[in-house]
Amino acid sequence: MATAETKVQVSEFTNEPFLDFSKAENRVPMEAALKKVASEFGKEYPMYIGGKQVFTTAKMSSVNPSHPSQVIAVFQSASAEQANEAIEAANRAFETWKRVPAERRVECLFRIAKILRERRHEMNAIICYEAGKSWPEADADTAETIDFCEFYGREMLRLSGPQRVTPMRGEKNYMVYIPLGVGVVIPPWNFPAAIAAGMTVASLVTGNTVVLKPAGDTPTVAAKFVDIAYEAGIPKEALTLVAGSGSLVGDALVRHPKTRYIAFTGSKEVGLRISEIAGKAVPGQMWIKRTVLEMGGKDSIIVDEEADVESAVEGVVQSAFGYQGQKCSACSRAIVSEKIYDDFVAKVVERTKEIKVGPSEDPLNYMGPVVSKSAMNTILGYIDVGKKEGRVLAGGDRAPGDGYFIQPTVIADVDPKARIAQEEIFGPVLAVIKARNFDHALEIANNTEFGLTGGVYSKNPAKLEKAQEVFHVGNLYLNRKCTGAMVGAHPFGGFNMSGTDSKTGGKDYLLLFLQGKSIAEKI
Ligand code: NDP
Repeated sequence: MATAETKVQVSEFTNEPFLDFSKAENRVPMEAALKKVASEFGKEYPMYIGGKQVFTTAKMSSVNPSHPSQVIAVFQSASAEQANEAIEAANRAFETWKRVPAERRVECLFRIAKILRERRHEMNAIICYEAGKSWPEADADTAETIDFCEFYGREMLRLSGPQRVTPMRGEKNYMVYIPLGVGVVIPPWNFPAAIAAGMTVASLVTGNTVVLKPAGDTPTVAAKFVDIAYEAGIPKEALTLVAGSGSLVGDALVRHPKTRYIAFTGSKEVGLRISEIAGKAVPGQMWIKRTVLEMGGKDSIIVDEEADVESAVEGVVQSAFGYQGQKCSACSRAIVSEKIYDDFVAKVVERTKEIKVGPSEDPLNYMGPVVSKSAMNTILGYIDVGKKEGRVLAGGDRAPGDGYFIQPTVIADVDPKARIAQEEIFGPVLAVIKARNFDHALEIANNTEFGLTGGVYSKNPAKLEKAQEVFHVGNLYLNRKCTGAMVGAHPFGGFNMSGTDSKTGGKDYLLLFLQGKSIAEKI
């Protein structure tokens, strides 16, 4: 019997450090990368099906949300038939890719990480332009992409080869993890590199083939990542990029009988639709489709009367307005003890008014645009609702500029059951809710259908302990912001309508892309 030992030698996983843009050694190359990427605006990208370039008559394009007249890239727009062809081709490629030794697949991931380190500024610049991320937010996205490659590579080494089971006299027993088949990967636009790449490399390193449908707003980031993956040795047949309308192409990919699983990150509505369609067997389907669904959030930070208020204000503001509040982990509700409510509200408003909003390519702007015109209109619609549901104390409107800029908005005195306290807005809008005491605050924190992230600021250990037991979220943060999960340190994923709690960047994640085969031989 082979042993579980592998030939690839690796050091212990550590997170990729973020770049410090106050240093010229990072600032100057980032400025150069922004210029280079801008000089390539308008480029057309082909699609790859079965390893071959495909061009369609219908096209789609992505724009720069800071300056919507700038077209970043032109993409093919696949039909449902082409989506079906992509699954068929990926299914054929599975027969070869699944036989590639795990160590070779792992080496591809490590090479992707290496290339990303070499092209970090270029990747950051594309994210900055296409997703509207500030320099540090774009860099965190790229760093997380590198982390996923390094972390899942190491995890696959652990999971490859025979796994030990309880010995049994008279038998030689072991278990191996084998891949599932064709995985459909459907990411959102808000972590256009890290989430798209994370679900993709987890699928590939475990031996599955992938049809990746990028988010309509950020296809260039996905296309750049796919190019890097090919360069790192991932065969074109094993990784297909199919751009197109989410509802048309997404539905076809999910429905196809040869689709073995769907790894999705996005809204509750689309996640539930995928769950429903995947749950219905179609003619020719041989398996129960597996779904890995990471969905929305309505994340709260509780600020107790025994909190360090200054630190709570900073944590809430960063969690609410970092990347314009467009993180699934973003704090959209501050639940504040009535004993410090007025003081907290005054300080949060003062701090929020210091935030600079403008084009993302300018590093002086902490907040850039929201991702699209439709996102902007939805958020402004919620702000209008909020004007009736509370007191708008900061923001409340668009910010100047031709881009999709919205002022960071604080709405106080919001009822815990108000719409802006319950529905995911996915923009820079913070609802502040008053709580009678800590137990009441916990009750409010648990009163939505979501359960993704949450935070508590308090110096009282008994209250922190109670929160650990009662606050029903997949990622709980104590006396720190509720965004910025790090691969390895904070396995990420939520409860209830926030998804299937898949815990990306955690030690259980790759098992979602594998199945265990138990083998017993009589000796
Ligand atoms: P959407 O649900 O709108 O879209 C996500 C992806 O699904 C996109 O690629 C989209 O394509 C595609 N899609 C749309 N319709 C269908 C369909 N019928 N079948 C299959 N795929 C489809 O979410 P957003 O992109 O707007 O992302 C924001 C959401 O993601 C928020 O709710 C946020 O909380 C959540 N999120 C959750 C995370 C978590 O870890 N829990 C992490 C990050 C974000 P297209 O773009 O072409 O429409």
